[in-house]
Amino acid sequence: MGTLFDLLKALCDLPGPSGAEERVQAFVAAAWREAGHTVTEAPVGNLLGRVGGKGKRLVVVAHADEISVVVKSVTTDGHCLLMSATGMSAAVNRPPNPMILGQPMTVMGRHGPVPAVLAARTGHLRSTLPDSGAGVVWNDLFLELGVGSAAAVAELGVHPGCPACFDVATRRLGGRIVGKAMDDRAALAIATELGRRAAGAKLGYELWLASTVQEENGLLGATALGASDAPFDLAIALDVGLCGDVPGVGVQEMPVRLGGGPVVVHRDSSARYHRGLTYAICAAGAKRGITVQDAAFQAYGSDSSAMFKADVPAALVAYPTRYTHTAIETVDESDLEACVALLLAFCEEAPF
Ligand SMILES: [Zn+2]
Repeated sequence: MGTLFDLLKALCDLPGPSGAEERVQAFVAAAWREAGHTVTEAPVGNLLGRVGGKGKRLVVVAHADEISVVVKSVTTDGHCLLMSATGMSAAVNRPPNPMILGQPMTVMGRHGPVPAVLAARTGHLRSTLPDSGAGVVWNDLFLELGVGSAAAVAELGVHPGCPACFDVATRRLGGRIVGKAMDDRAALAIATELGRRAAGAKLGYELWLASTVQEENGLLGATALGASDAPFDLAIALDVGLCGDVPGVGVQEMPVRLGGGPVVVHRDSSARYHRGLTYAICAAGAKRGITVQDAAFQAYGSDSSAMFKADVPAALVAYPTRYTHTAIETVDESDLEACVALLLAFCEEAPF
């Protein structure tokens, strides 16, 4: 079964741009079956695992997809021009996050993954060519596939509409873990580890796990889950938490620190999460000495708001993550472990 790091690395290194999550879902389904859960796949690709226990039906939700770009067109020379998908959010004439430039990428082609790099014209020539004044903008980005014609690109199965995501291996950096898809594979690692430990525990709820598709495309998978006849009484989504402890932000702006423990998100731009459920999660943690960080996020949404719209009381638990929506999303293993412990405490104490 391996360590939490092994599980996280295996999950994080898989390609799963929104709408092409099959590889992630196959891995998750195998891990959940190995832990003894009953696993079913919904028509749109959501995965459900029934862990067990007796009581209200609680679902812990994480999303399988990661942020991505989409091929807009292919030049005669074989370069793939891009549009930004939700999550890489950017107007085409605005600068992208500079951290995404030059990264290795995976394009999900018709026949499977194709390696690429995210490129823009060289700085050596930029000074001699017309400039928008905004530096490199989204419309300047393209994928280099290492081939020389549109026909060669087509042969690889790459065409307008293909999504692409970062292809960067997850690794330890000092005491932290860096990778391309902590959003939301670290959540899937937490949920999977929770399921393993909960399978041998006495639970006060009937616990389910869900791995949703297309969260980054407007919570599509969770919306389908809420509209399905899956019978849930409570939902807790797991997702990345924003950090203030980096240069240029500050904890006054965002009072969350990496390594400071799970983040209980009271509200974001998509929802005011259920107060009673949220405080009950805090209480279950306090009973076991688990410190949580309180937060409110702007320009942020989660699967739990889709569950809330389906009339399911829903809360959001996050793990502190630096540099969200880049290829170097950074987490602290102790926060992930504490999230598992917090959720297990909630399932055992059943305070709501
Ligand atoms: Zn996310």
